[in-house]
Amino acid sequence: MKLAHLTITQAQDLLLKGEITPVDLVEALIDRINAYDENINAYITVLGEEALEQARSMKDTQKPDLEKHPLYGIPIAVKDLICTEGIKTTCASRILQTFVPPYNATVFDALKRAGAIIIGKTNMDEFAMGSSTENSAMGVCRNPWDLDRIPGGSSGGSAAALAADMCFGALGSDTGGSIRQPASYCGVVGLKPTYGLVSRFGLVAFASSLDQIGPMAKDVRDTALLLNVIATYDERDSTSIPREKMDYLKDLEEGLEGFTVGVPEEYFVGGIDADVENAVRGAIKLAEEMGAKVKKISLPHTEYGVAVYYIIAPAEASSNLARYDGVKYGYRYEEAKSLMDMYCETRSRGFGAEVKRRIMLGTYVLSAGYYDAYYKKASQVRTLIKRDFDEAFKECDVLITPVAPTTAFKIGEKTDDPLQMYLTDIFTLPASLAGIPGMSIPCGLDGNGMPIGLQILAAHLNESKIFRVAYNLEKAIGFERKELGS
Ligand code: GLN
Repeated sequence: MKLAHLTITQAQDLLLKGEITPVDLVEALIDRINAYDENINAYITVLGEEALEQARSMKDTQKPDLEKHPLYGIPIAVKDLICTEGIKTTCASRILQTFVPPYNATVFDALKRAGAIIIGKTNMDEFAMGSSTENSAMGVCRNPWDLDRIPGGSSGGSAAALAADMCFGALGSDTGGSIRQPASYCGVVGLKPTYGLVSRFGLVAFASSLDQIGPMAKDVRDTALLLNVIATYDERDSTSIPREKMDYLKDLEEGLEGFTVGVPEEYFVGGIDADVENAVRGAIKLAEEMGAKVKKISLPHTEYGVAVYYIIAPAEASSNLARYDGVKYGYRYEEAKSLMDMYCETRSRGFGAEVKRRIMLGTYVLSAGYYDAYYKKASQVRTLIKRDFDEAFKECDVLITPVAPTTAFKIGEKTDDPLQMYLTDIFTLPASLAGIPGMSIPCGLDGNGMPIGLQILAAHLNESKIFRVAYNLEKAIGFERKELGS
């Protein structure tokens, strides 16, 4: 088997035995990136030289101490909206094209402390606004399973890099589905943690009450390993939840006996692809065969998720993005004749179409006279959506649903119709609005050979339950990762 195709756990095994070194791992990835990323465009910045240098500096003759450095020598990719000191962080936007942060995000420091090697910064929808990675000022990213299709978004670069074996693990961010949906479209695993579990310090803000950083990997075990590293309490993020450190690897092997799996009827409605529905229902059946009790439930406010999200997220975005004014940092239009002209030109030229659309929507719903009708109303309905989940988790340990109504669509298919694009988020948005954790794992292929994902949801801070169900299902499903591109 090719080195680049290994999971983190498999690579660590070989590192521990002394059969390979971190340099071998980095070189294997650089070869893959050189061969395939020109077409896929998963990376905005590749840090090949830096990664090699770091790998060489690691004492590869000495046995790695995985207790202290759980990601020793493992090359990881980071979405390009996570601040990295001295390394460009563009958010796939012209307005931040040359921005080099003077500090590290908390999660980035955590990766480094764990011994990870950063192999590059991944492509995304501009400011994480999108579901296809077509809204990137650095060019569309392609799905390694079929280069004519999108990889999902907004963390499309991270998902594509994993699927094409151009990294061993990755960080993404999820505001309304941006980890789960691309993971599903690319046949990899992605977790959106409970809001507040992972620090947002150094994450470029999109919608602050929803944004959450999370791990993406080739399998469930690697995802747990990454979450162990990045889930730290951080006093620099006021929404970080103080709590005891968890070991998400601990309960993986436990069975599903005694677990109740809820199946919300609102997630199996018209418009969902038959292949997707069959694969997800098949997996639910497997859970039942493994001893879980399956229960039909209802989340009655699900249908409002898209409307609520597309009011709240743009509202917060319009406020967060006010800081890009050409004064403090980022792109500035230099030929302006007045201050107002400078603001206008900088923002008109710096932001792409979708970002402008969100800023306008957000400014509108927050404006005097409309605030109560839109923003306040949406916040109230958000509470109802959250209560639906509270009720469901009184009787269920986890819920299983599809991640998206279809598999990865063709490039350009939805770019002219923002509403169609927004509707792809229908099954991921409610969990984001409720702040609960959700994971996507592959559960089969559709008629076109494209991966299908299923979503596992649990109550706040119940990531361990998700991992346990995911690990068992992964084994039972036996989804085969492909060596793509070769
Ligand atoms: N697709 C959603 C949006 O466009 C979610 C994006 C995200 O989670 N960052 O807003």
